[in-house]
Amino acid sequence: MWLKNLNAHYLLFGFLASVTIIADRLSNHMLKGTIILQVNLDRVINDIETLATFTATPGNGVTKSSYSHEDKLAKEYLKNEMEKIGLKVWQDEFSTLFGRREGKNPDAPVIMIGSHYDSVVNGGAFDGVAGVVAALEILRVFQENNIENDYPIEIIAMNAEEGETFGPGTGVSNSRALVGTLTEKELDTVKNRHGLTKREAMKAYGLVPDLAKAKREKGSIKNFIELHIEQGPVLDNHQIDVGLVEYLPGIGRYKVKFHGSLEDSTAPMASRKDAMVAASKFVLAVNQIVQSLGTGITGTVGEFEISPNSHQFVPDYVQASVEIRTFDKKILDEINLRDRFMTEIKSIQKETNVDIELIEMARIGYSNPTPPSVMSKENVEIMKRICDELHYKHTIINNGTGHDAMIMTDFAPTNLIYVPSKDGISHHPDEWTDYEDLKKGIDVMMHLVYEICK
Ligand SMILES: [Zn+2]
Repeated sequence: MWLKNLNAHYLLFGFLASVTIIADRLSNHMLKGTIILQVNLDRVINDIETLATFTATPGNGVTKSSYSHEDKLAKEYLKNEMEKIGLKVWQDEFSTLFGRREGKNPDAPVIMIGSHYDSVVNGGAFDGVAGVVAALEILRVFQENNIENDYPIEIIAMNAEEGETFGPGTGVSNSRALVGTLTEKELDTVKNRHGLTKREAMKAYGLVPDLAKAKREKGSIKNFIELHIEQGPVLDNHQIDVGLVEYLPGIGRYKVKFHGSLEDSTAPMASRKDAMVAASKFVLAVNQIVQSLGTGITGTVGEFEISPNSHQFVPDYVQASVEIRTFDKKILDEINLRDRFMTEIKSIQKETNVDIELIEMARIGYSNPTPPSVMSKENVEIMKRICDELHYKHTIINNGTGHDAMIMTDFAPTNLIYVPSKDGISHHPDEWTDYEDLKKGIDVMMHLVYEICK
């Protein structure tokens, strides 16, 4: 369909299936590079469909947990596909799979492209996998067109991204291992649904982790580029082809426990220790504190557990979850959110006689909240231009769930490209991205990599 929008000169070549390279004899509003590369959509579809067959729940979405049998099968498939195009393939000491296309300058920092291929239980075929397949297809196209890259290019295929497998705060593990923020402690403390710690699960997978060896040197990665499904409805609702991310908000999480005493609803008001009253005051306090900090931060108390949750009793226990999002890096220099919450908690405790516990739900080794992850602005501008030249509708989307790209932003210039998720659905068997849409995302990423690899 997209060919319809292009000029006649371009159209003519577009129909010649055998012609994959077009010399840049076109006017300067065409792609700045010297060639136009063609994604082979059949190969992409075959990859996505094959990887979806490695599932522990056939007929009910894709279940490809980290260090599972299905993880191994998927890794083997990817390894074979990478070897077919002459890449140097290896698994690092944290189980991350790499495929390297050497650069003319082998000592130059590497352009790293890819995503994760593990999934949640009963997930979809596209989350993560779309980005791994994009990277693979880009290097296939480079291979068949004899592209000469000065910088080495590495596909990264990660297998432990989903936080569901080992619990909240344990996701994006491969990228954390890569930048050196994953700790030995985490390997021994968090457990999957089979009761295995990360280290035990890795051992059963056939790997003794060595975090010191898996860590890359700062400066050794020139760019990190990830394509991912949006997991939200913006692109699909507005019929936009490609989403470009300028930054992803930082995140902070707290759990707050209110311990009161259980009494009948006839108990006198003055002597009560009502956990719900204390929690309500805290909700208002969070709202006020965060509002006073301006537009660079938001805070939400959106989850409650109440015990006994009955109209006949004064609640003796309430648990609330606070979610903080940050949009401005500077905001974190100026505030100490924990201290501000604690000041309020002390005063509510005094007022209500309810004991209150504030628990930080930070990822080990990370601040709470984290600062926003800011992407390479320069590359966003290049991609906007590529989208215009390819006549793809694009928009900036500055939100999303946790992605490996988020971990990489302070380590290397990073970019994240979104392709549409049908009805915004993800982590579900119905997760879907039209293949034509995926192709457009790969096109944009491929031409970016082509421009920056020289
Ligand atoms: Zn994902």
